[in-house]
Amino acid sequence: VSKVYTAELLGVGTELLLGNIVNTDARDLSVMLSELGINVYWHSVVGDNPQRLRQAVEIARSRADIIITTGGLGPTCDDLTKQTLAECFGLEMEFNQEAADRMREHFAVLNRPMTENNLQQAWLPVGCTVFQNLWGTAPGCAFKSGDNIVLMLPGPPRECNAMFRHCGMPYLRSLSDETIVSHNLRIFGLGESAVEFRLRELMNELKNPTLAPYAKEGECMLRVTAKAATEAEAEAMMVPVIERVRGVIGDYIYGVDAGSLEEAVFELMKEKGVTLSVAESCTGGFVAKRLTDIPGASQVFPGGVTVYSDMAKAKLLGIDAGLIAEKGAVSYEVACEMAVRVREVMGTDIGVGITGVAGPDTDGRHEVGDVFISLADESGVYCRLYTLGKTRARVRLSSANNAFDLVRRRLSGLPMEHRD
Ligand code: ATP
Repeated sequence: VSKVYTAELLGVGTELLLGNIVNTDARDLSVMLSELGINVYWHSVVGDNPQRLRQAVEIARSRADIIITTGGLGPTCDDLTKQTLAECFGLEMEFNQEAADRMREHFAVLNRPMTENNLQQAWLPVGCTVFQNLWGTAPGCAFKSGDNIVLMLPGPPRECNAMFRHCGMPYLRSLSDETIVSHNLRIFGLGESAVEFRLRELMNELKNPTLAPYAKEGECMLRVTAKAATEAEAEAMMVPVIERVRGVIGDYIYGVDAGSLEEAVFELMKEKGVTLSVAESCTGGFVAKRLTDIPGASQVFPGGVTVYSDMAKAKLLGIDAGLIAEKGAVSYEVACEMAVRVREVMGTDIGVGITGVAGPDTDGRHEVGDVFISLADESGVYCRLYTLGKTRARVRLSSANNAFDLVRRRLSGLPMEHRD
């Protein structure tokens, strides 16, 4: 059985303690470490002070296998991480010519003079693995000492992220004789707790691969992670698990390692050669915006209309003003008309209509969060009343998500009703 490593992330920088900046490096590294199957047990932060940094390192090495520092690698005198860590682990420093050359090049490209104090950054612990900085100046590094593995990364988030992904992750992978592979099942229409409830037994029973739910805004994700000697073996181990999950909540999975819900819908529409138009009231163009965020959206989406007022619904879509007055703009009938009319006007395969109460005011007939979403295609029109939360932002986000999900369900031949 191979070891499961634990890690402590140690942010170095007085700015972090003063609250001038947020420790986003720790957040980003934690996400990437979970991809590696490494358990992050501690996040700590210390200022630019050698004594306290030394104390923090002593504590970290006693309780975690892997220590990853961020920040304090730069040329100014308070950048002391490398020196202090080398002392803690009894290592001398040596000059790394490649790092120095790269730094000169970096400044030459920027057409800025390089002051000599920059060369201080090229001093690294003897025998370390150097992470050359292709994104900035200060190189990072890694070394093993006794039971500990130490990585030092630069503070600027862009450099820290890129260096960890390109140098740190391969380094950590190379320490293990196992490979970890994971897949993300993207889920819409079931919350994290509902997913957990339905899959609890399977999750408890599984040791390798493992199955873990994560909540995301308005949706949720299940991560399947397998460890094996090779990537192919890990992949093979995950196949039956993903099948079992599909057996339980298959309808709700809109993609494996997919991007957003709208991207999944876009791919599906392209695959089926289907076009879509939308008539949006309470979402004010949010569906159109999210679709057109995707490059190449015009292949499936010629356009839509924002018909916010009754007048717009009547003028732009030709919906009978009498019907709107009688039933209300937020109604089953008007929602159906919106989908049918926009589909006709735009000549698309599918038309979608969204009309609801985003709040904070109501229309006197419905509660905040009541939204009708309709879908028209050659077979007719489908429409449903949703109850989607209480804040304006939430209602709009959920309305758009549910509209995408309706299209996905229709195109995948799944039942349109998904709630229990
Ligand atoms: P440089 O090569 O720029 O000197 P460095 O490794 O010395 O990098 P610091 O001087 O500690 O890093 O920080 C540089 C900048 O990076 C900070 O001003 C801050 O904006 C950002 N930064 C540092 N640490 C973090 C962190 N943990 N999370 C987010 N941003 C950070």
